[in-house]
Amino acid sequence: MRPAIIVHGGAGRVRDKVDERLEVLQQAVSRGYKLLCDGASALDAVVEAVVVMEDSGLLNAGLGCALTFDGEAELDAGVMDSGSGVIGAVAAVRRVKNPILLARKVAELTDHLLLVGEGAEKFAEVLGLTVSKECLITSEKLARLEELKKRWMKGEDFTWLVKLRTLTVEYPDLFGTVGAAAVDKKGNTAAATSTGGYWLKLRGRVGDTPIPGAGFDALKGVGACSATGVGEAIIRYILCRKVCELMAKGFDARASTEEAIRRMSVEIGEGTAGVVAVDACGNIGYAFNTEAMLVGYVKDGDVKATLLRRS
Ligand code: ASP
Repeated sequence: MRPAIIVHGGAGRVRDKVDERLEVLQQAVSRGYKLLCDGASALDAVVEAVVVMEDSGLLNAGLGCALTFDGEAELDAGVMDSGSGVIGAVAAVRRVKNPILLARKVAELTDHLLLVGEGAEKFAEVLGLTVSKECLITSEKLARLEELKKRWMKGEDFTWLVKLRTLTVEYPDLFGTVGAAAVDKKGNTAAATSTGGYWLKLRGRVGDTPIPGAGFDALKGVGACSATGVGEAIIRYILCRKVCELMAKGFDARASTEEAIRRMSVEIGEGTAGVVAVDACGNIGYAFNTEAMLVGYVKDGDVKATLLRRS
């Protein structure tokens, strides 16, 4: 079986540090692909790729996470493996640099599927996965938060936050969630997604990222996918499950992602999401209805990372 992997670095507006971010995506894909070629599982590959992106500080996950309205870092992540049926997720965790590793531990070490807040943090502490608050809440981020709040109050940005339903063509600033989907040599598929949510979110808000079927999904013998964008919209549409269902009907990863995003644009609105997928045959696909999206993948043995813009 030909292994394959695709990653994303978020969908929305991507305006700065493009080269640096593409470099991170390249590293993430290369690491995941090498594992797959060495015979590792799709689960190992997607988790490793997401860890690389969480550690970069350049994307909205792990060290680079966005802050809540009141200056907290609350991270969400979820992982699913179609081979073993493993699902694990964490939400609103603070002081955890790699929430994707914690999500995997939830799947492997507990009888639960989703741990949130304080309890999830206690679990992280026991496993040695916590870091100091200052790692995630830096002075640069706090300054940025103040700047964004001012812009929001003047009605210059984040105008959609007045009512989250106004999710048509007004995007939130700089999404940069990360995710990966892979198929291994045995034909097993897995997906992983990790995020800091979005800037100015209320404390306690949980988006699509840790919700199976919304922010990530993997179906045995079918494929796997990872989403990014406005969490509330993605949950409403259950985006990743829709992509998997299309793949289950026999559409390849490309046709499935394109069709799901086309339907989501009609039913929920433009400017809401991006998604990447692999199918069980090793094809990759991606689609988005936002201004731009960062993706990385392996094609014919070559690692590619690219900033896609809507024409
Ligand atoms: N989907 C994430 C959330 O709403 C944000 C993102 O994709 O950047 O929490």
